[in-house]
Amino acid sequence: MTKMQEYIDEAEKALLHTYNRYQVVFEKGDGVYLYDMEGKKYLDFVSGIAVFALGYGNQEYNDALKEQIDKIIHTSNYYYNIPAIEAAKKLKKASGMDRVFFTNSGAEAVEGAIKAARKYAYLKDGKTDHEIIAMNHSFHGRTMGALSVTGNPHYREAFEPMIGNIRFADLNDFDSIMANVNEKTCAILLETVQGEGGLYPAEEAFLRQVKNLCEERDILLILDEIQCGMGRTGYMYAWQKFGIKPDIMTTAKALGCGVPVGAFLMTEKVGLNSLKAGDHGTTYGGNPLACAAICKVLDLYEKEHILEHVQEAGVYLEEQLDALAAEYDIVETRRGAGLMQGLVCREPVGDIINRAMEKGLILINAGSNIIRFVPALIITKQHIDEMISILRKCLD
Ligand SMILES: *Cc1c(COP(=O)(O)O)cnc(C)c1O
Repeated sequence: MTKMQEYIDEAEKALLHTYNRYQVVFEKGDGVYLYDMEGKKYLDFVSGIAVFALGYGNQEYNDALKEQIDKIIHTSNYYYNIPAIEAAKKLKKASGMDRVFFTNSGAEAVEGAIKAARKYAYLKDGKTDHEIIAMNHSFHGRTMGALSVTGNPHYREAFEPMIGNIRFADLNDFDSIMANVNEKTCAILLETVQGEGGLYPAEEAFLRQVKNLCEERDILLILDEIQCGMGRTGYMYAWQKFGIKPDIMTTAKALGCGVPVGAFLMTEKVGLNSLKAGDHGTTYGGNPLACAAICKVLDLYEKEHILEHVQEAGVYLEEQLDALAAEYDIVETRRGAGLMQGLVCREPVGDIINRAMEKGLILINAGSNIIRFVPALIITKQHIDEMISILRKCLD
């Protein structure tokens, strides 16, 4: 038995079996390549699910973390720390939002956004029966609150009852929003580009209608930018393409480029009229190490012109995937935005992904029939060509 297989067997005895894992142990990464413990090289078009935006082993990023480790890793949120102040300032600038709360994960950012929206409504009318409209096929995380607004009954069923007063509408169907809105509605929550649910971008006209409705009725618009934000669509946050600003926004995944961190942000209006001292907290959220990562990530985005690069590379990836879609019968269509793309197939894609893995290409699905492409944002045309050439062999 190989050493790698021994590790996998040990993992299966110790780790809770909540994933059907691929039979590989990754040991190190370099740029957009990963290496398993037997030294096999893989081109990575998953990047830890849209996390490692700057690629593996960025020296400046690694050095910034090492430097912070030697200063201080953690203090409590009862005190100020310099990286958190700097990170909040930079994130405000990048997002155009006004107030930041740092979390440890995406799901926690969604939890915070839900609490802020409920508190905002509560302060207005003192009632405790407010409703949130979320989208079918959405994904917002696995904690109970985030699961409650996740529009996939399969993820929720065994864990009922969820938190109450959630209604589900359809993305890009404003009538379905109108059918669910009433005087109790305190927030409308959606991913600007649905990720897990099938790479569906929210359409500009729909977003504008929802935004107008929210303004008319003082309902809060919450945009989940955890997967589609941080430059993935060629804009720092996907809503910036249309200038349709949310009242509350969530971000995570690429925010720390591998250090577990997220945030929810809000406008000054919501910041002043929702969560107050004592309403919300976290031990780790916004700790100096995580915030040093955010600071360096945001600096490197500017220095390496990540957004401009994604706008170019995204178009190239789209073209190449469109060509595959035209050529192969098994491919129905291509969908997505920027470097967040899906190849929608007419049959389950598990076998294709397994074959790609054997040939040294890492891909992931979104639902059973879609191959998802969420590579590091530093991916080049050469890498895209390399990926397409391996993928062709898997489709043939
Ligand atoms: C990944 C994801 C989450 C959950 O983030 P975790 O860090 O896994 O908790 C929430 N919303 C969206 C859109 C995501 O893609």
